[in-house]
Parts: sequence; C-alpha cells; structure tokens
Amino acid sequence: MEKHVNIPVFIPHLGCPNDCVFCNQRIISGKKEFYADEVIPIIEEALSTVSDNCKKEIAFFGGSFTGIDKCLMENLLIISNQYLKSGRINSIRCSTRPDYISADVLNILKKYNVETVELGLQSVSQDVLNLCKRGHNFDAEINATRLIKEWGFRLGGQMMIGLPGSSLEDEIATAKFIVRADCDEARIYPTIVFKDTELQRMADRGEYNSLDLDEAVSRSAKAFAILIEGGVKVLRIGLCDSENLHSDRTYHSGPNHAAIGELVENEFYYNLICEKLQGLKFDNQSDLILNVPIGHMSKVIGQHRKNKIRLFQRYGFRSIKVCESNNVSEYSVFLKVEERK
Ligand code: SF4
Repeated sequence: MEKHVNIPVFIPHLGCPNDCVFCNQRIISGKKEFYADEVIPIIEEALSTVSDNCKKEIAFFGGSFTGIDKCLMENLLIISNQYLKSGRINSIRCSTRPDYISADVLNILKKYNVETVELGLQSVSQDVLNLCKRGHNFDAEINATRLIKEWGFRLGGQMMIGLPGSSLEDEIATAKFIVRADCDEARIYPTIVFKDTELQRMADRGEYNSLDLDEAVSRSAKAFAILIEGGVKVLRIGLCDSENLHSDRTYHSGPNHAAIGELVENEFYYNLICEKLQGLKFDNQSDLILNVPIGHMSKVIGQHRKNKIRLFQRYGFRSIKVCESNNVSEYSVFLKVEERK
C-alpha cells in the first residue's frame, strides 16, 4: 500500500473567536502566531523529507480554517492548489467548526480542490456542548455534515472522550452520529487538561475531573468499535505525542499516555474476543486459536501481553495461540476453541 504523508500547517486559533474550555491551540500546535509567507517553506521542508512515491497531503489543522480572514484562506488555498496542480502533492484537507460551514465556504473549498473537510464533532449532547462553551448547537453539526456530503467532499469527524458533563452514553451517541452522518474518517481525542485553559480552572475549582488512563482507554475503545463497525476509518486516537503533553509548563492533567491509540486498539480486540467467546463451550483443557489480521498480532496480544493474561485469567484456557492470516480483515478475529485429546 502506498504510504500517506500529511504535511500539517497549523493555524493556531486564527479565525476562531471561541474559547472552548478544553482548547489551547497555541499550546497544542506549539505556535503563537501565523504568517501566510510561512506556508511555502513549511511545505517545501516537508516535501524535502518524503520520498516521491508517497501520497502527500497538505492539511490545514489547528484553528478553524474556514473562519479565518477570507483573503488569507484563499491565499493559502491558492498556494496549496498550485502544489496540487503541479503534482507535488496529491490532496488538500482542512479542519474547522460545524458553524463555519456554509454553501459559500464550501464553494471556495471546492474551487481550490480541497478533498477532505474535518469537523469538530466533539459531542452530540447539548449539555456537553454548553458546558464546553463550544458556541454552537447540535443542529449545526447536523447541517454541516449534510452540506459537506452534499458538496461531495470526504468528511472527517473529530470526537472527544471525557469532556465536562459527558458520559459513556453521550460518547456512544456521538460515535453513532459520526457513522450516521456518513463520515469517511474520524479521530478520537480523550480530553487532556492544558494549562491556561478554562478547563484547568474548572479542574482547579473541583468542577471537572479528568478521566484516568484506564477509563479513557475503555470509553475510547467503545467509540472506536462503533466507528469501525460503521465503516468509518479511524485515523488517530489521542493527540500527537509531543513535549506539550508532558511538560509542566503546558500539561495539567488527563490521560496523556504516548501510546494511547495502541492501548485503545488492544482494548478493542480484547472486547471483541470476549464477545465472540460468549456462548461457546470450553474448559481449562481447551486451547484458544485466534486468527488475526496481518500486522495486528501485537495489538491482539496487548501491551505487556495484557490481553493474553486477561484471557487466561478470565477463561482458564490451557493455551492461546495467535496467528496472523491474510483471510482476516482489519479489526476482525476468527477464533476456534479446540479440546486437546
Ligand atoms: S473552535 Fe476549535 S480552535 Fe476554536 S476554541 Fe474551540 S477547539 Fe479551539
């Protein structure tokens, strides 16, 4: 499969008059300012490090791309479109808020050949949206997703786990909405409390408790299962690991494990295997054979063999054998229980 490389262009907080309680884009992106003339050097530098046969995509992340000054947005799109036309990149994507999507905006994105629009669809719960001071309601999410699909873009949904007021049920409903809205792809972000945000002040006042790692992994795995089942490709789980997630200067609290995505996939496979074992007959003389997708053996076994250990402890198998197979599709498992003669 051809490798896909994103060329991220972070536009920190530009164009966004909101202050979502969890957001500090300046910290996440590590940038305080943004100048249009930085774009070409960023793209050129990134292109110099990737091989020609990769699929390359310019990705405007960080702020609310369609809310920035229209001239600046068009300038950035003109530059990106030139790279696209010259064949030096293969696609363009941007991320924005649901209430910054309109027919006019989508016409501009279409004109410059943007392929994918990612939307912050943090929650479908109005209470959660209000507590997070998102500044838009659920109807905005419905309208934006519908328009983006009508205009023929690929659609990405970014949801969050463990926001203020959010329950597992809210997160399941959000994942189901992302499937229903026909998103092509999604990202799952367990909530991190960054310093100098309203969420930090809420935490300090005792109004918000961040999830511990186990709960964040468990809840993310449930959302992940719904997305995978619904045919939505999950591009990322958790923020990119960076110094900001670990430095005392920027990180306050929350599940910031460097490999949280892997932990969530491990948990997903554990739940899937337990589900498939329901109703089967076996005892402590049985051997469990798991056929798993190519490249997924370590995800099934789990970090530090956690899944294998849990399966032994819960079901008492005599042995568990995990084999990779071409015949098993991604995020599926074929299992067999054998009695030893
Ligand atoms: S809309 Fe996005 S960029 Fe703006 S404050 Fe909220 S999370 Fe941050």
